[in-house]
Amino acid sequence: MKPEFPAISLWEKETFFRKRDVVIIGGGFTGLWTALSVKERFPEKSVLVTERSAIPLGASTRNAGFACFGSLTEVLADSELLGWEKTLNLVKMRFDGLQKIQQFFGADEIDYEQCGGYELLKDRAVLKHLDEVNEKLSSITGVAETFVLNEQKKDIFGFAEAEYLIENPFEGALHSGKLLMNLMKRCQDQDIEFLFGTEITAVNEEDSQVIVTGTNFRVEAAQIIMCTNAFAKNLVPDAEVTPARGQILLTEPIENLKLKGTFHYDEGFYYFRNVGNRILLGGGRNQDFKAEETLEMVTTDFLQHHLEDFLKTVILPGKTVRVDQRWSGIMAMGAEKFPVMKRLTNRQLLVARLSGMGVALAPVMGEKAADML
Ligand SMILES: Cc1cc2nc3c(=O)[nH]c(=O)nc-3n(C[C@H](O)[C@H](O)[C@H](O)COP(=O)(O)OP(=O)(O)OC[C@H]3O[C@@H](n4cnc5c(N)ncnc54)[C@H](O)[C@@H]3O)c2cc1C
Repeated sequence: MKPEFPAISLWEKETFFRKRDVVIIGGGFTGLWTALSVKERFPEKSVLVTERSAIPLGASTRNAGFACFGSLTEVLADSELLGWEKTLNLVKMRFDGLQKIQQFFGADEIDYEQCGGYELLKDRAVLKHLDEVNEKLSSITGVAETFVLNEQKKDIFGFAEAEYLIENPFEGALHSGKLLMNLMKRCQDQDIEFLFGTEITAVNEEDSQVIVTGTNFRVEAAQIIMCTNAFAKNLVPDAEVTPARGQILLTEPIENLKLKGTFHYDEGFYYFRNVGNRILLGGGRNQDFKAEETLEMVTTDFLQHHLEDFLKTVILPGKTVRVDQRWSGIMAMGAEKFPVMKRLTNRQLLVARLSGMGVALAPVMGEKAADML
């Protein structure tokens, strides 16, 4: 059983649990980028990040580490749901977010590799949209052709069930754990404080301040920003957020692995990349959306077997490789792919629903949240 926090001492009350100008709930990418942006805009404000777990535990340390902003079929699918204006807005936020990450951190700090992103296509139907999408994206990426058909690499990688391969040279891969740890270091450099292992169970307003409450402790704040993504409903029951578990497997090292880059398949429902000479593969949520609509951070036999099958039939046809590690993380989805950025009261802000591309989106969402304070 989790030990309860005992009654707090005077010393704790006047230090760790003292009043802050801004309290951020949730220490994932969104919480940390938001904390940095708040400090950048308002250096005089005291900022505290509270995180329920020993380490941030949601999606940020459990993802695939794609530095991506949307494959051809994803962008097309989004444009049908959201219209072009909103879709391009979303793509631009992700693109700008990736630029900001690279300006902030050296490639070696976060194992950033500009390896290129690829999409495997089963048929040519979607290719008729290639020119149109490239034209629309040119104002964001600055080049005429963001997505390029690459026959040569398709043959080198040797996939089954991929008639065409589309390359996007702007995409890359990074180490999500290193990105998060380096963000924490930057926060500490800016005197941003942390409380780990502190789940916030209630947020109330009294006497022109917000009272943030956990088990046996409370912290007062002038303003709070909730960056709890898939867990948003625990504090804001009407938040338009649906949890979506993402499952991943990682193979053992594979001799002479030719695959290098980040890869998308089936509108992004499957994604895989190399991590050195191993393959990280995730996705397959579309096999059973309902079962994956959960906050339970476990893997299931059904989906793991499905991913193993995908590995054997599509990525490495005819080859058997052993799986070394399996894990899951929880994303936040909703009726539409756009993130939620909502002022709940004059003192409370909710930033959530970063869907499957929060690595890229979080730096920009953090700036927008700071602007709204
Ligand atoms: C399997 C998987 C693969 C993915 N792959 C990619 C990818 O390759 N590229 C990409 O761009 N995106 C990817 N994503 C999405 C990306 O990881 C997320 O969009 C992003 O991490 C969201 O960051 P966040 O900070 O908003 O949420 P989270 O990282 O979930 O952070 C929320 C934090 O809030 C904390 N919290 C919740 N409730 C409370 C409370 N009451 N009190 C205190 N703390 C609380 C949680 O512990 C958690 O640490 C993937 C996600 C998953 C699950």
